[in-house]
Amino acid sequence: MIASLSLAQSPLAPEHHTEEGFRNPFPTYEDKDFGDFLQWSLVDRIKGNKPDKPDTYNFEMYENDGQYLQKNQTEFTITWVGHSTLLVQTDGLNILTDPIWSERCSPVQFAGPKRYMPPGIRFESLPEIDIVIISHNHYDHLDRLTIEKLGNKPLYLIPLKIGAFFEDLGITNYEELDWWESITFNGVEFICTPAQHFSNRSMFDRNKTLWSSWVVNGKNNRFYFGGDTGYFPGFTEIAERYGPFDIAAIPIGAYLPRWFMAPVHLSPEEAVQAFLDLKAKIFIPIHWGTFELADEPLDQPPEALHKEIKRRNLARDRFWILKHGETRIYEHAEFRKLSIVAP
Ligand code: ZN
Ligand code: ZN
Repeated sequence: MIASLSLAQSPLAPEHHTEEGFRNPFPTYEDKDFGDFLQWSLVDRIKGNKPDKPDTYNFEMYENDGQYLQKNQTEFTITWVGHSTLLVQTDGLNILTDPIWSERCSPVQFAGPKRYMPPGIRFESLPEIDIVIISHNHYDHLDRLTIEKLGNKPLYLIPLKIGAFFEDLGITNYEELDWWESITFNGVEFICTPAQHFSNRSMFDRNKTLWSSWVVNGKNNRFYFGGDTGYFPGFTEIAERYGPFDIAAIPIGAYLPRWFMAPVHLSPEEAVQAFLDLKAKIFIPIHWGTFELADEPLDQPPEALHKEIKRRNLARDRFWILKHGETRIYEHAEFRKLSIVAP
């Protein structure tokens, strides 16, 4: 395994650094403070301003036993495990994005948002993981129990300052990258790219670690992983530097109410615009259907996405709205011709 790190800095890079940590340097960004958080999380609830949500949803689940994935060395595949966790296979590498197999995305496992759907593939059925990509340190993206299970074998690619979290777990096989830095592993280039979001794991560490999206440039295909982000001009710049993409995994959930969520979470409508900005062929929605994190029902983001696809008259087969556990194989020569592995 050969990994080489490129430290080519963007002339814009320092703009997102501050004395204590990091910030969103984009003109479109409007910061929300702790008072806004209390307004959303407590005051609106006490006043009864929260919309009602159903108790159950009708999500289909694919029983993915992992056998195909364990054997595959050649095909470019994507499997949705749930929320923002994808297993991406390209150039013989097995890559996990923001892996979470835990029951809750929370500092503790007795409270906090609980999974509505189980992981789409059992942890034990995964192929051997080579690379883990982390977008930021929120509990629904960086899960301690899952990282402990993965251990020191995979190489973790993480935004700046998240290394201390791994050191605390005794994990040393990681590389911290700043926006626009890249690392090449077995001929596949991984680029840490901007996102408009924030970070914290407690009330005292806001924006002390960096957040990002990621580009994976395989030998024959290009993949974009959006992590968590609001709508921002970065999508166009990422496409100019690394597009067009074959597949873009873009978050569509945790978007209501807009007054609070818009700076840091895309609405499904904005996610479609981001997809067009990124010049991607296939859109895979992530960050929905698994954990209740915001005011919209869990099944609303894909419905809103469907409406937006129709309104804009876009080709439906460019939108792969995966079921939990579903694997799709991407055939790059003819991206419309896709096969679905549904055991
Ligand atoms: Zn987040
Ligand atoms: Zn999130």
